[in-house]
Amino acid sequence: MIQHVVSASIITIGDELLIGQTIDTNSAWMAVELNKIGIRVKRRVAVGDDADAIKAALDQEAVHSEIILITGGLGPTADDITKPLLCAYFGGKMIVNDDVLQHIHQIFTSVLKRPLLDRNLKQAEVPDVCTVLPNPRGTAPGMWFEKNERIFISMPGVPHEMKGIMEFQVLPKLRDQFQLPVIAHRTLLTAGIGESFLAERLIDFESSLPVHIKLAYLPNYGMVRLRLSSLGFEKDVLIRELESYFQSLQEILNDVLVVNEDIPLEEVVGRILVRHQKTMATAESCSGGYIAHLITSISGSSEFYKGTVVAYSYDAKETFLDVPHHTLEHSGAVSEQTVTAMLKGLLKHSGADYGIATSGIMGPGGGTSEKPVGTVWVAVGSGTAMETHCIRFRHDRKRNIELTAANALLYLLRFIERDVKN
Ligand code: ATP
Ligand code: MG
Repeated sequence: MIQHVVSASIITIGDELLIGQTIDTNSAWMAVELNKIGIRVKRRVAVGDDADAIKAALDQEAVHSEIILITGGLGPTADDITKPLLCAYFGGKMIVNDDVLQHIHQIFTSVLKRPLLDRNLKQAEVPDVCTVLPNPRGTAPGMWFEKNERIFISMPGVPHEMKGIMEFQVLPKLRDQFQLPVIAHRTLLTAGIGESFLAERLIDFESSLPVHIKLAYLPNYGMVRLRLSSLGFEKDVLIRELESYFQSLQEILNDVLVVNEDIPLEEVVGRILVRHQKTMATAESCSGGYIAHLITSISGSSEFYKGTVVAYSYDAKETFLDVPHHTLEHSGAVSEQTVTAMLKGLLKHSGADYGIATSGIMGPGGGTSEKPVGTVWVAVGSGTAMETHCIRFRHDRKRNIELTAANALLYLLRFIERDVKN
C-alpha cells in the first residue's frame, strides 16, 4: 500500500439531471462521505442517458482520478443503458448472478408481492468482469470494475439504494484497499463582519498555515463560517497541530466569534438557554413560523422552547398578542411599536424568559417608499429589557424570511449572552 492522497471523480447519469428535473443530491452526499474517509473528490460530472457521453466521461475521468464512482441508469427501463455499456467498456459478457437472482425473487415474492417480469430478471445479469456489490434496498446491484489501475464503481441512481451500497460495500472496500489519510476539520462561526474584512484580518494567519492545512470561507445569511481542514497520515500529530492553529484563529476573531463548533445558530441559542435553565418563545409575523421550524428541528428543543405565535393579520396580533389596535392603526404592522407590543404580549402569555418578535415586508409586493420591500423590524428581549432592530433586505421573499430568522436568532443570542453575565 502506498501513502498518497487518493483522488476520485463522480459521474452521475440521467437526462433528468441535465434538464433540472432531479437535483443531483447523490454526488453531494458521496463527496461528503468520501472526504470523511480521506479521499479527495477532484471532479463531478453529470451526463445524459447517452452511450457516447457516458463513455467519454469514463475515459476522461480515468485520466483525472484513481476512483470513478458512477450512479444512475441501472434500472429495468430502456433509458437505463449503463450496465450493457459498462460490460462492453470493460470487455466482458453478461451472465446471470445467482445471488442477485435469488434476491430479486425474494423482493418480488415477499416484499412487493408482484409478478416478476422478464425485464426484472434481466437485473440479475451482470458483466462477468465485475465484482457484484449487493443492494439490499433494491433490485439493481452495484458493480465494481478494475482496469489500468483505476477502480470504477457503478451504483443505482435511487439515493437510498446508492447510500446503502456506499455505506456497507464501497466505503469499507476502499478503506481496505488504500491507506487513506486522516482528514480533520475545525469550524467556527462569525457574525457582524463581511468576508472581505475577515480575509484582510487573516492575511498573516493564512500565510502562516502549512500547505496541508486549508482555510475555507463559508458565508451564509450575513454570517461567515470558517473551516480549517488538515490532511495527513499521523492522526495525533495532525489533530494537535490543527487544534493549535484553531486556537490562534479564535483569538484573532474573538470579538466576532459566535461559536467554535459546526452547529447552527439556533442550536447555539438552545445551548445557552439550557445551560442557564431559561426558556424562549417567538411571535412571528413576517417569518411565518420559520424561526419555530428551525428551533424545533433541533432534537430536545422542548427543553428551552415554549412555542410560537404566527400572528400574521392585525386581528391575530391583537387577539393573541394583545397588540393595541391603535398601535397597529397608528404605526402600522411593520414598526418598532408593533414588534415591541408583540414581544410584550408574547412574554406575558407564554411565560418564557426571552422572546423574539418579527414583522416585515418580505416582497416582492407590498412595499411603499417609506417602508420598501425587505424592511423588517425585530424585537428581542426579556420581561425586564428589550431591544429593537430595523433591517433592510432585498427582494427575494424566501431569502428574506431566512435572513430574518438568522438575524433575529443572532440578536437574541447576543442579548442572552449579555443578560446572563449581569
Ligand atoms: P432504478 O433501478 O431504480 O431504476 P437507476 O439506477 O436506473 O435506478 P435512475 O433511473 O437513474 O436510477 O434514477 C432512479 C431515481 O433516482 C429517480 O427518481 C431519479 O430522479 C433519482 N436519481 C437519479 N440520479 C440521481 C442523483 N444523481 N441525485 C439524486 N437523485 C437521483
Ligand atoms: Mg434512469
